[in-house]
Amino acid sequence: MKKIRALSLFSGGLDSILAAKIIEAQGIEVEGITFQIGFTKEEFGIPQRDKNKKDGDNGGHLNPEYYAEKAGIKLNIENIFEEFKSVLFDPKHGYGSNMNPCIDCKAFMLHKAKEYMEKYGFDFLVTGEVIGQRPMSQRKQALPIVAKEGGVEDMVLRPLCAKLLPETLPERKGWVEREKLYDFNGRGRKSQVQLAKKLGVIEYPQPAGGCLLTDPGFSKRLENLWQSKCEKEYSVDEIKLLSIGRHIRFCDEFKLIISREKSETEYMEQFYGQFTTLKALNFGGPVGLIDGDADEGGLKKAAAILARYGSGRDAVEVMVEVFAVSGEKMVYTVVPYSAEQILPSWHI
Ligand code: SF4
Repeated sequence: MKKIRALSLFSGGLDSILAAKIIEAQGIEVEGITFQIGFTKEEFGIPQRDKNKKDGDNGGHLNPEYYAEKAGIKLNIENIFEEFKSVLFDPKHGYGSNMNPCIDCKAFMLHKAKEYMEKYGFDFLVTGEVIGQRPMSQRKQALPIVAKEGGVEDMVLRPLCAKLLPETLPERKGWVEREKLYDFNGRGRKSQVQLAKKLGVIEYPQPAGGCLLTDPGFSKRLENLWQSKCEKEYSVDEIKLLSIGRHIRFCDEFKLIISREKSETEYMEQFYGQFTTLKALNFGGPVGLIDGDADEGGLKKAAAILARYGSGRDAVEVMVEVFAVSGEKMVYTVVPYSAEQILPSWHI
């Protein structure tokens, strides 16, 4: 008899681990799938700043590969960076509190998962959604919308809250016993933690808030990027840069990106040669990148701002080396800006 196979959407969060394990415990072969949309720090190895992170965690973000391995789930990874742009630029159901188009995003992921399911011979889809857990996409009214627009309707089983939802195809076919599914709802995690113990899931991450698009600071930078480009567009490098450093824009022509700690300084090395780069010569401190076109006056001002964030901030003067994209090297001697001179409105 053919073994029934399920494809489980896998973020690396506890709910997605449990959903896969519940179905696996019913004798079904389960594989996970993670869609990379370009808005998690792991996708681009973006350093995180939380010094207390555990393995696999990344400052409130998740590492699906790590947790899939710990849970013994085979994970497939699909990059949909380019395709996701159409969802982000014009979401039919709008954005959440920030730039997160969660309902459209979930529907799109289910649509992609269905394509994958059909291509690789899976029988149904699984998600770790719990009614009422997220304000936008996991409201009870939103779940059928997401499934309908994803084109999957009753092909998607949500084991953590299935008993609160209509029967699905895998239940009707007798592949899955409805009695062994759950009726979790709301934001609490107590039931999930108890279930993790029961299923032998020992390692799982702390609750994470969502992708970078749910972050107010990141969303503001993304909007600012689109304004400066006069169009909704972005590249991998732009997303990487939006995720790190201080961003200071004091004129329309360019912005200055300054690393905040060693890991960011090291990460920004990959952009040397692509962007005009600034670094204090006679003091320790951050590196700065110029994103846009700066004339000499703009570069000197950027150098004085950069000096403010280095160990020469109280010095009378700081020498700042500027490496232009053309290969030209200049050294400016500047008076570091005071904290008051850097206006709050310049920070993006
Ligand atoms: S949090 Fe991000 S990845 Fe998750 S559904 Fe919303 S937009 Fe999509």
